[in-house]
Amino acid sequence: MIPVDFGDWPGRIVFGAGTVGRLAALVDRLGGRRALVLCGSTVAGGEMLVKVKAGLGDKLAAVFPEVRSHTPIEMVERGLVQFRAGGADVIVQWTDSVPPDVPPDTTSGPNSCGGVTTFEYDSTGFALTGPVHVSLTVLAGSPASAGQVQACMRRVSIHELGHSLGLLRHSLFDEDIMFGSPIVDYPSRFDRRSVELLYHSAPTVQPAPQ
Ligand SMILES: [Zn+2]
Repeated sequence: MIPVDFGDWPGRIVFGAGTVGRLAALVDRLGGRRALVLCGSTVAGGEMLVKVKAGLGDKLAAVFPEVRSHTPIEMVERGLVQFRAGGADVIVQWTDSVPPDVPPDTTSGPNSCGGVTTFEYDSTGFALTGPVHVSLTVLAGSPASAGQVQACMRRVSIHELGHSLGLLRHSLFDEDIMFGSPIVDYPSRFDRRSVELLYHSAPTVQPAPQ
């Protein structure tokens, strides 16, 4: 027989039919305000997560659906970022290295950084399920100088911020920061007009639950 010892288990285990409906009350009992749900992709795509979300109601902080076997450290770090970000609307993360802290050099140089903004939608496709994620990357092996990397990071950060504000499409004009590969380092008047128009239009996407 395999010995089992839960003596150091840090939490409480509750199970039984319908127990998932008591999740919000259990969060209260623990003195918590909102819970971050950790699960793998199978659970995230199935009925169970729907029930857990319903059971938590407004006690749901966010879902981290990236749990994999063997607990890879990168996964733990991403989960921690999400946990610490609490009720943040946008989470910004360096993918690997942090750019050098030097004044930007705006002379044109080789491509040296990248960024991506991701939105997670529910099954309707019209409501966000969690915070917007912005990942910024210094391209490894780029011959650009430290100042050129810094200038690239400024352009890309503003561009990704534009995406997280809701400018989902790229501009066709290179004088706009929302041009696919931005070369300017400031929002143009057209970028600002686009945001103004967006924020005076009826929303078609619902924000994530808070
Ligand atoms: Zn973009």
